[in-house]
Amino acid sequence: MNIFITLDYELFFADFSGSVENSIIRPTNALTSIADHFMIKLNFFVDAGYLVRLKHYKDRYPQLQKDYDLITDQIRTLSQNGHDIQLHIHPHWEDTDYDGTQWQMDTSRYRIHAFSKEETMDIVTRYKEALTELVGDRVFAYRAGGWCIQPFTHLKEALKANKIWLDSTLYEGGYKKNSTHYFDFHNLPKKTFWRFESDPLIEVKNGYFAEVPISSTTVSPLFYIRYALLRKFAKDAHRIMGDGKGVGREGKDNLEMLTKFTPAVASIDGYRISYLQRTLNEYIKYSDKENFVAMGHPKAQTPYSLNGLHKFFADNHTKHHFTTYFEVFHE
Ligand SMILES: [Zn+2]
Repeated sequence: MNIFITLDYELFFADFSGSVENSIIRPTNALTSIADHFMIKLNFFVDAGYLVRLKHYKDRYPQLQKDYDLITDQIRTLSQNGHDIQLHIHPHWEDTDYDGTQWQMDTSRYRIHAFSKEETMDIVTRYKEALTELVGDRVFAYRAGGWCIQPFTHLKEALKANKIWLDSTLYEGGYKKNSTHYFDFHNLPKKTFWRFESDPLIEVKNGYFAEVPISSTTVSPLFYIRYALLRKFAKDAHRIMGDGKGVGREGKDNLEMLTKFTPAVASIDGYRISYLQRTLNEYIKYSDKENFVAMGHPKAQTPYSLNGLHKFFADNHTKHHFTTYFEVFHE
């Protein structure tokens, strides 16, 4: 089985974005040093809108020049060391300004669908260019910000025009509909790779695009109760490295998670890594055994999750092929 460890490389998007050092640079270095130990390469979906915005403001604000240098140095180094750099888009950066002290996030256009067809084309083109500038012509895969990839209509044209043909956003059973998010991933093809054309959920043989979905399982209410308690009481091991605040979970999502089994992505974040091995075992038993994709965020790493990742690598690196989208799929 190919195993892809994928990280959404980004700040936080609520009132506090967090610092680039604590929310991106340090946890990424912690992750790669564990991966290096096993000679494993990681996949980074880089929030390119952040780069574009930093570039826009860096000549005006010395702090942002510093942040820009830190982040672009790290992305170049990751790529030079064989880690994969691919495209992640949070289009609300288009509406985000810097006030001299911090980012003023406006997430009213959180989904790319709030932008017109022309604007979508422009955003995808500029954001991909920002990555290509740093790592060369190696960017061909995409993950939608906050899983919001539907409807695919305008994205289809924009991604195609930019030769981005692989998507790794979907996960079986995923569903969210609230003031910022919308996605509905029920009834995906029962595969770990398929081709598609106009709708990522519908397989089309010889379609231009390919989907490599994020692996998933179902998680019990007890998991979320434990998770909440650990975050509240068990201080150090479960404290996240990032120093910002997230966006997007609302009361009704919590209620559902606390009352029934709900679909959840294979994840290396925080306490979620506790069900990663179980999820892999399920894929070994029941899937086509081609690809297993786990996701995570540098900002959400904890001492507990980093230990867990070390163990996951130690237990699996001789049995499976830890790899990158570039290595397996680049044509
Ligand atoms: Zn993201």
